[in-house]
Amino acid sequence: MTDKDYLKALRIPTKEKPLRVLMSACLTGVLCGYDGTANGEYPSALKFLSYDTVKIITFCPEEYSFGSPREMCDIHGGTGDDVLNGTAKVLTPTGKDWTQGMITASEKMLKVAKDNEIEIAIMMDTSAACGSQVIYDGDRFSADKVYQIGAGVCAAQLRKHHFKVISQRDYASLEILYAKIDANHKIDDSKIDHHEIEWYKTYFKIKN
Ligand code: SF4
Repeated sequence: MTDKDYLKALRIPTKEKPLRVLMSACLTGVLCGYDGTANGEYPSALKFLSYDTVKIITFCPEEYSFGSPREMCDIHGGTGDDVLNGTAKVLTPTGKDWTQGMITASEKMLKVAKDNEIEIAIMMDTSAACGSQVIYDGDRFSADKVYQIGAGVCAAQLRKHHFKVISQRDYASLEILYAKIDANHKIDDSKIDHHEIEWYKTYFKIKN
C-alpha cells in the first residue's frame, strides 16, 4: 500500500477520537533544534495544531540523547537503515560518534509511537534523526555537501516497525490529512510530495 493509499484509508477522526499524530517536536515550535531554535517555521505542519480532531504527540530524539543546544550530526556511510543495521555511523562535525545515542533515541521514539498508538508520523526532512525522504550523505557543513535518498535513523526505526512517516514537505500527502481532520478542507490537487518536485528528480536523476 502506498503512503497516499494508507492516508486515504485512515478513519475520519472526531473531537472525541482525534487522529493520533507523532510529530518532530521542532515542527510544532519546540526550541529543540541543534542551535536552540525550532529549525524555522513550517505552516504545513503548524496547521495541525489548530484542530481539535488531532492529538499531537511530540518528540525530539536528538534532544533526548544529546540535549539542546548541541552539535549538528549527520549519517556517514549510508542511511538511517544502515545505522540500524550497524553499517553506517552518526558523527558530529568535530568527530564525535553519536551512533549509539541516536539508536537509543530511535528506540525511545518507537516506544512513544507504540504507547500512543500513533496513526501517522510527520517528521522534519533532511534530519539525520527525523528525515524521511532526503538526508545528507556525510557532513552537511562540508564544502561539497551531498544529499542522498533515504530516512534518518528514527524515521527508519519507525518504518521498520510499520509506522507510516511523511515529511512536512509532502504537500500532497498532507492535503489528504487536512481533509481528514477538517470536513471543510477541499483537497488541492496541484500539490505534490517532496519526491515529486523538480529539484528531487533532477538531483537524483529520476526519470519521469
Ligand atoms: S531531531 Fe528531529 S525533532 Fe529534534 S530538532 Fe532535529 S528534526 Fe527536530
